[in-house]
Formats: sequence, structure tokens, C-alpha cells
Amino acid sequence: MRVRIEREVCTGAGDCARAVPEVFVMADDGLAMVHEGGTALGEDASGFTNWAEVPEGKEAAVEQAAAACPGTCIVTEQPEPDPEPEPEPEPEVTGPPPRSSIPRRIAFRLRRLFS
Ligand code: SF4
Repeated sequence: MRVRIEREVCTGAGDCARAVPEVFVMADDGLAMVHEGGTALGEDASGFTNWAEVPEGKEAAVEQAAAACPGTCIVTEQPEPDPEPEPEPEPEVTGPPPRSSIPRRIAFRLRRLFS
């Protein structure tokens, strides 16, 4: 799971940083940021922070923080499931080549001619 914040609508109340300090931190400008291992991730031109990977075991807490966020500015995203593996192609059924009756007919006619 990953998470980011739309900082333009963050109220700066800090609920998220108090609830899940392993993911959210309050920046010097008074708005929330996401961080990974203590390093605050930047923000893009559209006002969203970069995506932060949610540490294992913190998914539920982050979901709760997102639901309780007064600015509704915490966005979570589940990783894409791994694509289904391609099915193995059916093995080609091999066996003896189909029999042809042409050589037998020729042999029959030759026997008739020369008998
Ligand atoms: S809970 Fe929401 S509004 Fe409050 S600081 Fe965190 S991101 Fe901003």
C-alpha cells in the first residue's frame, strides 16, 4: 500500500502525524508530509506529495487516518495485483503420421498388372 497527501487542502491540524508518525510528519510550513525512514518525500507541481510506501502493519492505521482526515486529503492506493501468468500452451499431440493407402493401392495394381 502507498499513500500521499494533497497538501493544498491540508488543514495542518496534524491528526495524521499524531496517529501514524511512522508515515506522516508535519513540515516547517505547517502542513503534513509523508516520509520514509525519516526522510520527508517531496511534492510535485500538482500539490501532491510523492507516494510513500506504508510500512507493513501500518496499513489499517493509515486507512483510519485517511478516513478521519478533516481535509480528506490523504490518498491511499493498493498495489496492482500481479498479472495472471500466461497459461502453458497445450503440448502438441504427436504420434505416428497418418497412414496413406496410396502405396498399398499402387502395390495392389502392380501385382494385378504383373500377375
Ligand atoms: S489529518 Fe489531513 S488535514 Fe490534518 S494534517 Fe494530516 S493530512 Fe493535513
